Amino acid sequence: MIPARAGGGKPAPLASARTSRPAEGEVLRFWVLALLICDALLAARPASAAGEVVPDGLSRAAARYAAEPIELRPAPALAPVPPAVVSHGSRRERLVALTFDACATGGASGYDEALVRVLLETRTPATFFLGGKWMLEHPAATRRLAAEALFEIGNHGFLHRHLTQLDDAAVRQELAWTQTVMLSLTGRQGVLVRAPYVEIDERVARICAQMGLTPVQCDLASGDPDPALSAERLRRHVVGAARNGSIVVMHVNGRGRRTAEALPGIVAGLREKGFELVTVGEMLRRSACAP
Ligand SMILES: [Zn+2]
Repeated sequence: MIPARAGGGKPAPLASARTSRPAEGEVLRFWVLALLICDALLAARPASAAGEVVPDGLSRAAARYAAEPIELRPAPALAPVPPAVVSHGSRRERLVALTFDACATGGASGYDEALVRVLLETRTPATFFLGGKWMLEHPAATRRLAAEALFEIGNHGFLHRHLTQLDDAAVRQELAWTQTVMLSLTGRQGVLVRAPYVEIDERVARICAQMGLTPVQCDLASGDPDPALSAERLRRHVVGAARNGSIVVMHVNGRGRRTAEALPGIVAGLREKGFELVTVGEMLRRSACAP
């Protein structure tokens, strides 16, 4: 986990990049923040529901992209959480989180249902980060992913824009519109967000925190959008590079061409190495809340 400072300056360095033992104070700060995030995840709830309205722009976007009529419900603001960016869980717990991004694309966004079938057949928990436009285009898949107890869903921006290049209002819009679509389709909001292109800075992280969202980056990019990557190379890379607390990024929007083919071997290989596969939320709870 990477705590980002609430004030100015650069975020704290990667815990995984340290070459020397961190000072006791830093360790303490890590765990205090971890516990705060854990508490926020467990207690995530709307902070207010009054006065919320669906923006006209979102209604127009829904009319343009939605595969079926959708009744948009304003998403109440979530209680703020401490500003922090998660890139991995505890290095002491033998846990790995597989995450799958449903990126909204310029044209019609794809959906790799074969991949989801593999996860269900192998009883593998996973976290899906869903784009707002993607959910409008795939309402049935969105409901199915949300309804499955093995899975957890989070926010992947509305139009998959580069958040670090947008002004504050546009960042909020990308995140808030996606929360509203998610709530409207599934009846609940996520509390995790994966920034498109895994691009985040302190300003965007602070906005996420103000909106009650915790950014989840990764420490293991699978590279699954690479068309030159065979299923076997993808499997070997992920199984070989995974370590305690790893958060793996793959794609469920069809960008990962070999992901479904490689996934049975990835799941089996990680379990053979003794890893328990969990959602990101479960990883954070177990990392921060374990006695
Ligand atoms: Zn994406």
